Amino acid sequence: MTKPNTTPLILNGKEVSEQIITKIKAEVSNIHSKNKRPPGLSVILVGDNPASHVYVNNKEKACIKIGLHSEVHRLPANTSEEELIDIIKSINKNNAIDGILVQLPLPIHIKAEKIIEIIDPAKDIDGLHPYNLGKLLSGQKCLVPCTPLGVIEILKYYSINIRGMNAVIIGRSTLVGKPLSLLMLNENATVTVAHSKTDNIDGISRTADILISAVGKAKLVKKNWVKPNAIVIDVGINKTLENNKSLLVGDVDFEDVKSNCKAITPVPGGVGPVTVAMLMSNTLQAYKINNNV
Ligand code: NAP
Repeated sequence: MTKPNTTPLILNGKEVSEQIITKIKAEVSNIHSKNKRPPGLSVILVGDNPASHVYVNNKEKACIKIGLHSEVHRLPANTSEEELIDIIKSINKNNAIDGILVQLPLPIHIKAEKIIEIIDPAKDIDGLHPYNLGKLLSGQKCLVPCTPLGVIEILKYYSINIRGMNAVIIGRSTLVGKPLSLLMLNENATVTVAHSKTDNIDGISRTADILISAVGKAKLVKKNWVKPNAIVIDVGINKTLENNKSLLVGDVDFEDVKSNCKAITPVPGGVGPVTVAMLMSNTLQAYKINNNV
């Protein structure tokens, strides 16, 4: 058995995100210098979920930093499905907007699948419209969900070989696990997707050269789930209380796992910042496609 590495490489998502944002900023500043309309992002937030408000504020700040045009529709929790559909239809027609993001989760009286299908697929910068998911499945160029894209960016930034590696993804959501499994397949990994009904999940996880957790359960992944010298990517964001302090932690028990792996993403500061950068990147991509740039 390979001897575990006692000082893992910390995969710094802020650094990866800064590099992506610098490139996008340069492209956007070039667009401004030609007096052309900048790429535009429209975010729709329904209700009072505190985490969603933080995520939307971060996206707004990133737009300002880059020079994108941005607008945020903050709607009350009692907004009806019909009202939301009408707003999306009008943004679909707005030529100043290239990307539409509906912040999830939506209040329970609104069906997310129905809302996502209203978004013009060419403006679906979250990549969740069945048109884009279908294209991803068939290996065609399309708008791809930001978090899975961010995971691939982190692996590539650190020159981590994906081809031929055993990748285990824990979580099979449409937002993260499923699209990530397709992206990892496209990168020629051998992919296993585990979920809440998976038997022997710790044993399966231990087969991973690259272990990715996207579950939403604090400290689920322990040292004995991780093959020595594996790469560990923690997508999870969970709020916990420790010593009466509210903390953000991932799905991976970082302190337990870090002595056993080759590289690991922290939470916060891992996948999260790269997700925001990929949203900006998708908005620019949609702008280029819509303007034949
Ligand atoms: P989700 O839709 O709730 O999906 C969770 C997945 O985890 C499901 O497939 C579920 O299995 C599986 N699961 C639940 N309990 C499990 C267990 N004990 N063992 C193994 N699998 C289990 O969540 P999501 O939207 O994919 O998000 C997952 C996490 O990532 C959350 O913490 C979320 O906050 C975070 N997130 C982070 C970012 C970022 O930018 N860093 C972006 C998006 C999401 P079943 O399918 O069998 O129910």
